[in-house]
Amino acid sequence: MRLTYRYKLNILTHQRHTIDRWIELARRQYNFRLGERFRWFDATRHPVNCCPIDGGYGPVNSVENVFADIPLSKVLTKGKNKGAVYSLVNEGYVDWANVQKDGLKQTKLLFPEYKEMPAQMLQNVIERVNRAFDRFTQGDGNGKRSGKPKFKGKPYYSSICWPQDVKVLSAGLVSLPKLGELEFIEHRPIPVGFTVKTATIIRDGDGYHICFSLEDKFVPIVDVEIHPTESNSKGIDVGLEFYVSDSNGSQYEFPRWFRKAEKRIAKLQARKAKKPHGSIARKVLAVKISRLQAKVARSRKDWQFKLAYQLFADCDVIFCEDLQLKNLIRRNKLKTDDAGKIAANGQAAKSGMNKSMTDAALGQFLNQILPWVASKLGKQVIKIKPNGTSQYCQACLSKVPKGIGARWHDCDNCGESLPRDVNSGKLIKRIGLATVGEEQRSLKTALTCGRLKLIQPQHTVKSEDEARSLSFA
Ligand SMILES: [Zn+2]
Repeated sequence: MRLTYRYKLNILTHQRHTIDRWIELARRQYNFRLGERFRWFDATRHPVNCCPIDGGYGPVNSVENVFADIPLSKVLTKGKNKGAVYSLVNEGYVDWANVQKDGLKQTKLLFPEYKEMPAQMLQNVIERVNRAFDRFTQGDGNGKRSGKPKFKGKPYYSSICWPQDVKVLSAGLVSLPKLGELEFIEHRPIPVGFTVKTATIIRDGDGYHICFSLEDKFVPIVDVEIHPTESNSKGIDVGLEFYVSDSNGSQYEFPRWFRKAEKRIAKLQARKAKKPHGSIARKVLAVKISRLQAKVARSRKDWQFKLAYQLFADCDVIFCEDLQLKNLIRRNKLKTDDAGKIAANGQAAKSGMNKSMTDAALGQFLNQILPWVASKLGKQVIKIKPNGTSQYCQACLSKVPKGIGARWHDCDNCGESLPRDVNSGKLIKRIGLATVGEEQRSLKTALTCGRLKLIQPQHTVKSEDEARSLSFA
């Protein structure tokens, strides 16, 4: 099992200067290597609709020119296997990361300042470039591709990593290669049995932090398969009025962290905007703002972790909705009136909701924190398709249409009356339990496989449309 523990550093001035310098050197190296990758990337592919004559875009970037600089094999100069030759071409593909790592020797000749950095730290920079590029061209483990990697400006590159030889000497003291001993505030001890594999120093709004990646090979990561039952599971519905409403009827209100700090941040930003660029006053205000923002983010995360543990206290399986949060946080479409002029589209209200939605960080909670806490406790999170979970009655499954403003669920058919979100929580649990073993977990599947049955409404069906929606045909 691998864990990451983060501590605040008590950093000395000269260490701070060294770290700042190394971060800047690493950033330049990152940008240079990224540019190099782009150059190779452009040269080794060509438009599909035309036949390339020189294989690339002009003589500078032609394949021949690009490949002329690239070594295709590597001879080891030290270590046990000294003299061994390694090919840098793997099944017809150039191993770009290793080619670039090989090029670090040249970098150190041309720019001697790189010699003071630990060699592994520089190699880690190249691995970062490689990861960013792989995610762009191939996608991550789930095949999800990221956008084109960006060149990093100063505020966007703020960490350096020691991938090996990190020694924690005693409580609150760590030794890092080429930097020496560093003090950190050990607010929680490193768990027994875990060894420190890597250390990353992060420059943050309010100082410097160190992240240890801890590993214990004897603690296995197993994907548990728990059979959900009525008694060991619960359904949760997330929202903005109440953060979480569960199927037992408990509702958890959420502290609106950003909303509370918003006014103070806005005031500081207005003051900062008046100060001239490059002035000390402007920098001081920028630090104040980023500290406030960091505080908001941390209090939110802390609260989310505590909530996740609280939710798992009395159950083993949690059913929740599989929300596409990116689609929820969108601007309204532009509307035009008959004359072609821009008409009101309700964006002001939507902006407010988007702000609250971002503040709530539901995605962070549902996709990261809840599954992580579950895996740590040996419990399980199961996601359900959200279609219909707020529109149907959990008791009789008849449709009770309601707008986004309606906060109460009143069923005409069976007389069920309870808060809207609790109804959803209960329904999510029923769907979850009814679709065990099904490929798609949704209300529709639960009804079609016959494990959930619609109780026909008592009142007369008024229109064809309604009848259709009731029978789910
Ligand atoms: Zn009902």
